[in-house]
Amino acid sequence: MQRYFVELAQWQGESIVLGGQDAHHLQRVMRARVGEKVVCSDGAGREALTEVAAFAGENVELRVLEWLAVDREPQVEVWIAQALPKGDKLEMVWQKCTEMGATRLIPFVSERTVVQYDAKKEAKRAERWQKIVKEAAEQAHRSRVPAVELPRSWQQVLVLAGEVDAALFCYEKADTVSLKQALREARGEAQDQAQDKARGKVADPDSAVAGHGLRRVLVVVGPEGGFSEKEAAAAEAAGMRAITLGRRILRTETAALVALSCILYECDELGGT
Ligand code: SAH
Repeated sequence: MQRYFVELAQWQGESIVLGGQDAHHLQRVMRARVGEKVVCSDGAGREALTEVAAFAGENVELRVLEWLAVDREPQVEVWIAQALPKGDKLEMVWQKCTEMGATRLIPFVSERTVVQYDAKKEAKRAERWQKIVKEAAEQAHRSRVPAVELPRSWQQVLVLAGEVDAALFCYEKADTVSLKQALREARGEAQDQAQDKARGKVADPDSAVAGHGLRRVLVVVGPEGGFSEKEAAAAEAAGMRAITLGRRILRTETAALVALSCILYECDELGGT
């Protein structure tokens, strides 16, 4: 099907006027008839399936049949589990993670969480987070608004490790495995699984892998006070991989953004062809 970028000025409600070279191409080169289907995009995230309604001299009038959802979502789902930080820092973390493309936002309470956890207040805060996230998704032209959860306990975070291809436990005391290494190893495993599946060995539709090999990645970030050794041991026992984000100690509100950027980069989700 033919596709054209049409300037915003040419869109009038359900009617689009194709002019210039595009109209010539459609009429003369493609020899389109009334009723021929064409996809138009305004180049800013709006796309429509249209049909030729009429020919008006050099121009072609198109009528919108259906608005199409443009998919700007990364193929890899990134879940961010972030220990509740002080004040309203989490608002910024959720906002930025949403802009960048995270799909699930999971706050949690850990041993060294500084803030007092108040379930009543949290429900109100969660509402506010959802609003911030929705607005961030709109401004980022995303087709999906990430889900923001109510705060979990550490135990409830640990179980998530079993639902992803890679569970990255950001730990400033881990200095051996980088995010890059951990992701590459996980990708190797995911690809092996996909191959096994293709050979009919493993029947797990959830482990289906996209082009870059990873379907879901979980990032876990601790509070201002960091994780305790007990928590680090539990993370490892649950199947999480302790990774370093470099030799500098990042603030809790910085770590998730660094990790998310790196994951998207490693999965070729930062644009280009
Ligand atoms: N209080 C600790 C630092 C905590 S930083 C200290 O002074 O040593 C808050 C969180 O950010 C950590 O729990 C970890 O999840 C993440 N983080 C910060 N810097 C990191 C790094 N270099 N590598 C991996 N994770 C890091």
